Parts: sequence; structure tokens; C-alpha cells
Amino acid sequence: MAGLLFGTGGIPLSTSKPKNLLNGIKRIAELGLGCTEMEFVYGVRMSDAEAAQVAVTAQKHHVKLTAHAPYYINLNSPENDKLVASQERLLQTAHVAALCGASDIAFHAAFYMQNPPEEVYPRVKKILTGLVAEIKRQYRFITLRPELMGKPSQFGSLEELLNLCSEVEGLAPCVDFAHLHSRTGKINSYYEFKSTLNQIEKRLGRSALENMHIHLSDISYNNKAGELSHLNLRESDLKYTELLMALKEQGAGGVVVCESPNLEEDAMHLFETYQKV
Ligand SMILES: [Zn+2]
Repeated sequence: MAGLLFGTGGIPLSTSKPKNLLNGIKRIAELGLGCTEMEFVYGVRMSDAEAAQVAVTAQKHHVKLTAHAPYYINLNSPENDKLVASQERLLQTAHVAALCGASDIAFHAAFYMQNPPEEVYPRVKKILTGLVAEIKRQYRFITLRPELMGKPSQFGSLEELLNLCSEVEGLAPCVDFAHLHSRTGKINSYYEFKSTLNQIEKRLGRSALENMHIHLSDISYNNKAGELSHLNLRESDLKYTELLMALKEQGAGGVVVCESPNLEEDAMHLFETYQKV
């Protein structure tokens, strides 16, 4: 079916015990959701045998899997060992994700570290060019997806991602609309969402729009620090109904990963709203 799949970032809260990924995948299917993101944010801890079981379970229950790489990645670190470790973490995530049958990996690419953004961009681009080639060579179906970040100290504005993904073959963005809103203080209306989607299509092609990786929740933010914390959707000011309308109207496909604290409750609410708009 064309269109978007909806799911949770991490296993649903209502997963039966033991609360592990296998039961989480079954719960996603029971709830009528279509995907879930495996959160390796504090490290990749999964054996090859476990990953093979995950792949079988996800396939059996028709649940699409994506992965989130560890937070401890900074492709603009001034220290060489940290640069090496950052790339190693992405390779580890790709290894496990491939065994699980996941296709897309969201990650936080870099911090500016007081460097001007125009100096950070070529550094990040150079590393990712090599890394994407290596990952494509080892794991053909894995796509790395640098995430649109919410804090002004973090590399990953919409513009940076569109440039990066149009210049590095095989790279695609993970578009977090709550981050986009908190970073810019704008982009929170039907027309702004639509123009963002048009920009993505224009810069990266129709296939990018039909194969999106979207993160959604709402977040409290202020103009100085940007993103502060994640909120449940209905406590927030993010106009998610207008966003879903714009996505549907533009024919967007791919996954919507809900990162609200209440996870599946908001994921199901988004899915129901999407069907109605
Ligand atoms: Zn993230």
C-alpha cells in the first residue's frame, strides 16, 4: 500500500513481559501499526543470533524496522579517536540493522563545536561520503539518514541536509518536523509544511518524498537553546493535523516514527488522524 506507515521510536509501553524487541514487534502488529524504530541510542547491544530472530519476527508480523544509531556520534570532533569511534558506531549499527532486515538508520551527525557551519559542512560531507560507500559495499540495502536537529548547536538544518543528501550519493534525510519547528521557530502551518515537502522533492527527487523517514513528537523549546524536551502531541503546539494533510496531499510515503513519551498512544492517534484527513 502506498502512503505512510506509523510506529513508535522504541518498543511500545504496553508490550507484554518480557519487554523486549520481539514482544515489542508483536505489540506493534496487534495495535495495527506498521513500523518501529530500534533504539540503539545508548549503544549497539544485540548479538547476531538475536538479530536473526528479530528479522524473522518482523517479517512474520509485517512490521517494518528502522534503527536509531547511538547518540555518541560527532563527525566534527577535533579528536581523531572520537571521529574513528563515531564511524565505528555507525558501522556497528549498520551491521545489526542489516541482520534485522532494517533498511534505514537515523543518526545525529555532528555538533558545530564553536566552528562556523560552513567549515563543519565539508568535514561532515567528506566522512559521510566514505562511510556511505563502505556501508553500501557491505550492506547493500542500508541507507544512512542524518537527522534534522532541533538545537542551534547541532549540525543538521534542513538546508544542510538537503545539500548533503543531494551531493552524497546514497544518503537520505531523516526529517524531524518537531525539530524543524523548534530550530526555526517557524514551519508550523499547512502551507509551510507543504513548501518544505516541495523543497525536498525539488532538491532530492520524487523518490525521496515517496520514501521518507519522519520523526514526530512535540517538544518544548525556546529561541535561545532550541529544543528542550519531548512532549505528548496533544500537549503541544505542533500542528500535526496540518502536517499530516500536507504529507497526504503531496503523496509522501515511508515511515513516521513517533517519539512522544506516550509512544504508541500518539502513534495510533497520528495514524487515525492521517486516515481521516
Ligand atoms: Zn534522533
